[in-house]
Amino acid sequence: MKPVIALVGRPNVGKSTLFNRLTGTRDAIVADFAGLTRDRHYGNGRAGSREFIVIDTGGFEPDAGEGSIYREMAKQTRQAVAESDVVIFVVDARAGLSAQDHEIANYLRRLGKPTLLVANKAEGMTQGLQLVEFFELGLGEVFPVSGAHGQGIRSMLDKALDML
Ligand code: GDP
Ligand code: MG
Repeated sequence: MKPVIALVGRPNVGKSTLFNRLTGTRDAIVADFAGLTRDRHYGNGRAGSREFIVIDTGGFEPDAGEGSIYREMAKQTRQAVAESDVVIFVVDARAGLSAQDHEIANYLRRLGKPTLLVANKAEGMTQGLQLVEFFELGLGEVFPVSGAHGQGIRSMLDKALDML
């Protein structure tokens, strides 16, 4: 079985951009992932000789209200996390920390699943000074990447796959 990586984070942090970068596709592939639910976005990825499956998620708002479309997205995200072996938790290096980031971090810390904290949109940011605030999330080191520009992707993957 290939390891499964779930991309989790609030809307608009760049999860789908990272998904496309990791899978080399524009559209998520849905078919032919035995044992995995069909209604989320799955794709195949590779880092050198290591192959993996990646799941994109719609965006996670843990306290979404009854009847909200975000409620269904949160449910989908919880299922994706349950199916995964490692979680890449994506935050926005430009927008900085948000209340939602804290809620998602709390959820992930409680689960105890291997979680890599990744700050996307970090192109052009020299040395991690702007990223120091993300340590507050209690998930350890934060990895700067740029999904749009393809920076830091390989080291992020190596790190994530080493957490298995
Ligand atoms: P999602 O909602 O988490 O799936 O986020 P998307 O992948 O749809 O991206 C949300 C917005 O952020 C889009 O306008 C992207 O073009 C932009 N974006 C994604 N990745 C990057 C990045 O690495 N750098 C910058 N500057 N913008 C990005
Ligand atoms: Mg998306």
